[in-house]
Amino acid sequence: MKIIRFLSAGREHLGRLHDDGHATLLEGDLFGTLRDTGTRAAVDKLLAPLEPRDILCIGLNYKQHAAESGSAPPAHPVLFLKNSGALQHPGDPIVLPRKLRSDRVDYECELAVVIGRRCHNVGRHEALAHVLGYTCANDVSARDWQRDGGGGQWCRGKTFATFCPLGPAIVTTDEITNPNRLAIRTVLNGETMQDWNTEDMIFDVPALIEFLSASMILNPGTVILTGTPHGVGFARTPPVFLQPGDSVTVEIEGIGKLTNPVVEER
Ligand code: MG
Repeated sequence: MKIIRFLSAGREHLGRLHDDGHATLLEGDLFGTLRDTGTRAAVDKLLAPLEPRDILCIGLNYKQHAAESGSAPPAHPVLFLKNSGALQHPGDPIVLPRKLRSDRVDYECELAVVIGRRCHNVGRHEALAHVLGYTCANDVSARDWQRDGGGGQWCRGKTFATFCPLGPAIVTTDEITNPNRLAIRTVLNGETMQDWNTEDMIFDVPALIEFLSASMILNPGTVILTGTPHGVGFARTPPVFLQPGDSVTVEIEGIGKLTNPVVEER
C-alpha cells in the first residue's frame, strides 16, 4: 500500500494512494492498524508522509560515492542526525540559508526507511520485519558548514530548516520486499545528476537496522536516511550547487517522485 498524509478542507488525513492517482481515506494508526474506508479523498496539499520521531542518517554508504568523496569505505556505518525541524513537504521549497549563509547547498537522493515497530538489538534476519515501509528523501547538505564550519561534525551542515524533504508516500514492505534492488536518481532542472541503484550500498538496509538498533532504541516513526550514490554536486567538475529557481526531484523505483523548488531565505 502507498500511504500519503495530506490536507483536505484544512484537516489532516492519512490516505491510500491508488495506481491511477486517486486517494481514499484511511482510518486508524500509522503504526497500528489502518483501514481503507474506500471513501474518495480530495487532496488539497500533500504533506511529508509522517512527522519523524528521529531522523537518523548514514553517510558514505555507497561505494562509488565514498570514492568520489575521497573517503575509504567505512568499517562501520557513519551516523549523523537531522533535527525534526528540517522536515519539508513534497512541493514545498528547499530554502537556501542566508542568515547563517551557505553558498554550497547540495542535493542527495536517498532511500528512507520508516521504522514501524520498536527495535532494540534486532538481528539482520528479523530487521525488515520492523520496517513499516520506504519513502524518498533528499539529504540536503550545506557543504561549507558540513566540511569547514562544523568542527568535524556533519550535523551543522545537514540540518538547516527545510533540509529534509520526505515523500511523497510510504510504500509498505509488502510492495517492496527487497529495498536493496531499487533504481534511485536525482533530476535537477530536467537533467539527471545521480542515477544508480540501492544495491551499491556498503551496508544494506538489514545491516543498518542491526547496527543502529545495537546502539540505540529505534521507536516507531524513526526514519533512517540510508546514504546517497555518486553524482552529488560538490564532486562534479565544475561543482554544482542549488540556486534560487531550481527544481530538484528524487525518484526511487516503486516509490515515486519527490520534487521541491529552491528559494533563497528572506
Ligand atoms: Mg546523505
